[in-house]
Amino acid sequence: MEKILKNFSLIIIFVLFFSGVALLSNSNATAPEEVTLTTLVQQINEDKVASIEVDGQTITSTLKEDEVKQVTNKEVGSSVSESLTNLDVNKEKLNAVALEVKVPSGFERAMMGIIPILLPVLLIGALIWFMMRGAMRGNNQALSFGNSRARMIDPNDKKKKTLFKDVAGNKEAKEELSEIVDFLKEPAKFHDLGAKIPKGVLLLGNPGTGKTLLAKSVAGEAGVPFFTISGSEFVEMFVGVGASRVRDLFKQAKKHSPSIVFIDEVDAVGRQRGAGLGGGNDEREQTLNQILVEMDGFESDTNVIVIAATNRPDVLDPALMRPGRFDRRVTVDLPDLKDRIAILKIHAKDKPLADDVKLDRLAQRTPGFAGADLANLMNEGALLAGRRDGKSISMDDLVEAIEKVMIGPARKNKRMDEKETELTAYHEGGHALVGAMLKHADPVHKVSIISRGTAGGYTLSVPEKDTHYYSQSYFLDQLAMIMGGYAAEKMIYGEVTTGPSSDLERATSMARKYVTRYGMSELGARTFGKREEHIFLGREVSEEKDFSEKTAEQIDKIVTEMVNTALTTAQEILTENRETLQKITDVLLAQETIEKDEFDQIIKESTEKKA
Ligand code: ADP
Ligand code: MG
Ligand code: ZN
Repeated sequence: MEKILKNFSLIIIFVLFFSGVALLSNSNATAPEEVTLTTLVQQINEDKVASIEVDGQTITSTLKEDEVKQVTNKEVGSSVSESLTNLDVNKEKLNAVALEVKVPSGFERAMMGIIPILLPVLLIGALIWFMMRGAMRGNNQALSFGNSRARMIDPNDKKKKTLFKDVAGNKEAKEELSEIVDFLKEPAKFHDLGAKIPKGVLLLGNPGTGKTLLAKSVAGEAGVPFFTISGSEFVEMFVGVGASRVRDLFKQAKKHSPSIVFIDEVDAVGRQRGAGLGGGNDEREQTLNQILVEMDGFESDTNVIVIAATNRPDVLDPALMRPGRFDRRVTVDLPDLKDRIAILKIHAKDKPLADDVKLDRLAQRTPGFAGADLANLMNEGALLAGRRDGKSISMDDLVEAIEKVMIGPARKNKRMDEKETELTAYHEGGHALVGAMLKHADPVHKVSIISRGTAGGYTLSVPEKDTHYYSQSYFLDQLAMIMGGYAAEKMIYGEVTTGPSSDLERATSMARKYVTRYGMSELGARTFGKREEHIFLGREVSEEKDFSEKTAEQIDKIVTEMVNTALTTAQEILTENRETLQKITDVLLAQETIEKDEFDQIIKESTEKKA
């Protein structure tokens, strides 16, 4: 059919083309001179004309002299002789001229009648056809939109197969999921016992904690096909496309059952309904509804388990969590020290490490890193080793990689002038010294005046243990440490630069949280302001004020006081230990960075000297 259509279009194009050529040739080929009827009559009367040919409206006359051809248009509706006679042609002279009247053949006459009608019809037909073809193509695209973009991971594909052993840590999550694995392996066993099989599992956790990896490993362990699609892929511009994709995705999964459907980033479609505006919302709603419909429609022997992942459980539609839907929830935590070592080991497996590399030291320095960050760290380390043409990855490469992952790449070529370098050294020295002197602040791991990302220098302070809760005294000491840079600049130069502006921002928002979120100030143990997310107005967070103007003033006052107190604390420490600050600054200017051990040594020496 398609082929015929294509040929048909060729024919149309040919016809159009040739009629075009014909028109051209008619008007242009050896164009004979055009003369008026009067002239022609005169020529006949003067015996100059050899022959006359009449073809429809056109009289082609050939002159005796050189057989020159000329054309004349005759009046419509009258015969040649009539026209000529009207102009007083000499009858005898006319008789002497060979007169030939061309009668169009039946076909020609038919064509002459039809073409004027047919041509526009053909043109319009061609136009409609082209438009239809365009629409049809669009249609096809819409159809293929409807096909889910799901990628299937075949259980027999050894290379892509992921197993639980590829996922470090996450012990509890793995335990919960191994239940699912058991079921997928032997569904009959559970059905025979009359057990209702879970339909949906929701993986919750920070980005990069290994949710996708875990879902894949469930499929790998069970040896079942794994259909994966990301929630954001559902959200296309046409309403209804998402829903039809979901339908198709589940159809395929059922065909290959037992199997796993994995919906990554489910929050992209599963946000609370009824909020927001715009057409995109309808689309999400339809997609979400379709997911729910499919899950509700599972027969007890469907043997398809839906795993979804999100890092925003707070915005999920409660309908997703109802029994018979995603009623299993598995939390994937940030790795603790032990897990971080295990993750580093996994990603160090096929990398040649130098003898000095201590993965546990690296893990100690990276609290708060997710699995993905650690994987990234090992990779950056390998890249750095490669760039210096090393045969193996050294500890220095990996330490450098930590900072790269944390703060951004070093910008060694960005040279500051001498004064700025000195100022940065005092500033960072200030942070580090205040941090070292306060008991509850995070210990200093490294001070550097190498600029990284947007920072001119940096002081790395890392909590000693993995901390989940922070105390009041931690906040206050941390606040003073943040103000240490500002305090140092002020003390040494008598004025401050624009340098510490991001420090001030951090300090202010920290103090604000102290008052409004954690209820740690004298305003009492309550929160101030309701956080609300405007999902469709560009993901911004706004705060609804649930307190009076007077309270707002009090909050402002306390926040200001807190920051000022922190500054005073920092200033006192720096004044008292001015020599130590000078020492740190000198070392920084000489060698750009101070590592933890050396820094601790400087602090120890100076406190001993004082005592
Ligand atoms: P999420 O889906 O939670 O955002 P991913 O599963 O995509 O995170 O993790 C990204 C990458 O980080 C993985 O491909 C893996 O290399 C690494 N990773 C994360 N967590 C772990 C872990 N527990 N063990 C090993 N590697 C991990
Ligand atoms: Mg993921
Ligand atoms: Zn600073």
